[in-house]
Amino acid sequence: MELDRRIMDSLKILIVDDLSFMRDAIRNILESSGISNIDEAENGREAFSAYKREKPDIVLMDITMPVLDGLESLRIIRRYDETAKVIMCSAIGQQKYLIRAIQLGARDFILKPFQPERILSAINKAVGINDK
Ligand SMILES: [Mg+2]
Repeated sequence: MELDRRIMDSLKILIVDDLSFMRDAIRNILESSGISNIDEAENGREAFSAYKREKPDIVLMDITMPVLDGLESLRIIRRYDETAKVIMCSAIGQQKYLIRAIQLGARDFILKPFQPERILSAINKAVGINDK
């Protein structure tokens, strides 16, 4: 899938996952579609620091992580910036968190194992919407 090239070149994405191979897998998907401005964090607390520092356009957020989980991280990021665009990335079996994630302001909810198309379409959709 092709992302809009104008937005793709300037797009900054923060990948949050406690597993490095999972971050690598997502990074590969993004880089294959031309996104090179990528930051990583390995837990929810690091994600919040990185969010404040880097101001990413999109956050791809794992749910189960040590230190601070993805739902808590989503909550504090959205409290800090009500326009934050966070897409939750969850393992199968964790759909129980879907409603909570949406209540907390998540833009989308993607299940692992990831299909590249699904990630890219979620990003495309999120950047296309500029509500508060
Ligand atoms: Mg995890």
